Amino acid sequence: MKKIIIAIDGHSSCGKSTMAKDLAADIGYKYIDSGAMYRAVTLYSIENGMFQGDDLDTEMLEKAMKDIRIDFRPNPETGRSDTYLNGRNVEKEIRGMEVAGKVSPIATVRFVRRAMVEQQQKFGEEKGIVMDGRDIGTVVFPQAELKVFVTARPEVRTRRRLDELKAKGEPASFDEVLANIEKRDLIDSTRAESPLLQADDAIVLDNSDMTIEQQNKWLVGKYQARV
Ligand code: C5P
Repeated sequence: MKKIIIAIDGHSSCGKSTMAKDLAADIGYKYIDSGAMYRAVTLYSIENGMFQGDDLDTEMLEKAMKDIRIDFRPNPETGRSDTYLNGRNVEKEIRGMEVAGKVSPIATVRFVRRAMVEQQQKFGEEKGIVMDGRDIGTVVFPQAELKVFVTARPEVRTRRRLDELKAKGEPASFDEVLANIEKRDLIDSTRAESPLLQADDAIVLDNSDMTIEQQNKWLVGKYQARV
């Protein structure tokens, strides 16, 4: 069967990664979490003293970009792939609130986006890939054969994110998580460089009232229709 590129974009914490991962596993495609790449750059910047409060030293980061290597390796225990930063497994650290609080400003930086998009396009050279993010259907793969734009009500997204954090032993308050989600949405949608936009040819899915099984079934249906 011919291999295609599947782009899944949408708001923060709306279950994009879950549906993208499940679809990739189902149909034997590669899955790439583009947000994890921006999160890894953020972790690197924090660890290397590039933040003074919320202010980022972009000059220092630009010089360091050549030293940042991000890759994904399978984790046999979870059956998923983990994010590696310069050979270190950072899957857990990049999901915490500290990185979440600083990732959107990092993702507005033009040279960071250039580097990430270039690497993402390489991942997709052979097609057979599901990638989720904010600009996958608009900038990274405008030629993707299937584009989905996912959203859900902010309070539903907050609840899902809280459950995820709790499961990882990192409890947070509802208000803190909601504020982070709303702030990231605002920065992502209003930035000059590759803002979060729905591609003209994307299919919109509001999954507020859907279970994971329902959304997976919906997505497999769209994939089958495309191939
Ligand atoms: O998808 P996730 O929430 O992990 O992404 C973290 C952040 O990375 C987003 O809030 C957004 O600022 C940024 N991002 C982006 N472009 C992408 C993926 C993520 O700007 N393709």
